[in-house]
Amino acid sequence: MADALFIDITTPNGRRYQQPTGLFINNKFRPSSGGQTITSLDPATDEPIATVHAATAEDVDAAVQAAKAALSHPSWKLLPGTERGQMMGRLADLMEQNRELFASIDAWDNGKPYHVAYEEDLTEAITTIRYYSGWADKSFGQTISTTPQKFAYTLRQPIGVVGQIIPWNYPLSMATWKLGPALACGNTVVIKAAEQTPLSILVLATLIKEAGFPAGVVNIINGYGREAGAALVQHPLVDKVAFTGSTATAREIMKMAAGTLKNITLETGGKSPLIIFPDADLEQAVKWSHFGIMSNQGQICTATSRIFVHRSILDSFLAKFKETIETTSKIGDQWDSTTFQGPQVTRTQYERVLEYIDIAKKEGATVLTGGKSHTPTDPKNAKGYFIEPTVFTNVTDNMRICQEEVFGPVVVILPFDSEDESVRRANDSTYGLGAAVFTKDLERAHRVAADIEAGMVWINSSQDCDPRIPFGGVKQSGIGRELGEAGLEAYSSLKAVHVNLGSRL
Ligand code: ADP
Repeated sequence: MADALFIDITTPNGRRYQQPTGLFINNKFRPSSGGQTITSLDPATDEPIATVHAATAEDVDAAVQAAKAALSHPSWKLLPGTERGQMMGRLADLMEQNRELFASIDAWDNGKPYHVAYEEDLTEAITTIRYYSGWADKSFGQTISTTPQKFAYTLRQPIGVVGQIIPWNYPLSMATWKLGPALACGNTVVIKAAEQTPLSILVLATLIKEAGFPAGVVNIINGYGREAGAALVQHPLVDKVAFTGSTATAREIMKMAAGTLKNITLETGGKSPLIIFPDADLEQAVKWSHFGIMSNQGQICTATSRIFVHRSILDSFLAKFKETIETTSKIGDQWDSTTFQGPQVTRTQYERVLEYIDIAKKEGATVLTGGKSHTPTDPKNAKGYFIEPTVFTNVTDNMRICQEEVFGPVVVILPFDSEDESVRRANDSTYGLGAAVFTKDLERAHRVAADIEAGMVWINSSQDCDPRIPFGGVKQSGIGRELGEAGLEAYSSLKAVHVNLGSRL
């Protein structure tokens, strides 16, 4: 039961804090109207961490009503952009002050190594809010001259009440990707965290209030996708839905949002290719190939999970790649500073990844390394959801392991003979999120970057991501862009005001 709205918690790395458990609506925590709860488990031990309240459709309605009221309340509607930006800046400062706490909670809840949460997730989360705080007073319309008597100007206005649904792979930073541009543009928000990782966002809620955001501007709920998520997407007062998660869920969201013709942005799955040409710096290609699929336990939508290697360098690539995995991919729990790979986020995901490994074996692929679950030596982690980093060779393009997103530390290696062939096969996917190309040939690098069907391309790298740079996919990897100036488009609408100065002519 989650009757208390705050519980005292000590994290495994010794941080004592008060974990809110309620639904954050109108700057206050309240219990779920239906008494529903979500219990979060530590993926390294399978032990419960905390139980939080889960929103019903009635709670979602209360959160949306709060956001709707805040939208026209003078404390938000009339707040100058500069002050809105200062508020966001204060939020970023407060997040910075709580960096160790946030990293501890996300590591515990999600299973990612603490040092990764601290260095990567928190850097991204804080800089995203800071970056968008700067946009709050720098985004405006235009004046457009038409005839001597007439002109028009455009107002860039908030879209309104935004419903945001986020996944579990980067709990806090996914929240900031959604909140940053939405708040910079003056919208109000109801954000739903993923049921697998409900904790850090509730601590963020306390900081939102502390930073001075008026009641109702940011409402934060936990809840199950099919109930709370669906209620949010279908609510008639929600003007826009922004979603990050699986392509299957995005399809359902698009259908539900059609009922009230909502503006949507979707960031979904991927099966991103990484192509290595014979002239590439092989050490670098191996390093990034490893990072591109094995970091974050392979739970990255942009993971470069199909590695195309020119046949002339295949053997040396495979030898080096295997060696890098053996020396770098140290498996362990979140708190060991030498851990590269923690447990998968949940038992369901763990089983799903193992099922894909099984499917690949049955399809006839060869295991180069890994291919099974991992049993840690420390007995406290015996029930953890650990999987060995797994590499498949002898894979054909039509196999499920080559077409479907695994969302785990599993990669396929595909030899190729020519540039045209590599691009054609890289594009043979329903997805189009990221892509990487390794070559020292400048012309080829940019030619392939232009030809590949993806929202983002890395040249001699993989997984670079920056708040200043647009992020998103083509094909079934999504609709719209997040981050960068492009991210503002998703959260503002342009109003044209026509002015007639010619009545006396
Ligand atoms: P995964 O399969 O990796 O858990 P999902 O796409 O199912 O990814 O989940 C991503 C987010 O979408 C979560 O916050 C989840 O609660 C939410 N969600 C899942 N199903 C629905 C749905 N039918 N309607 C709205 N939101 C949903």
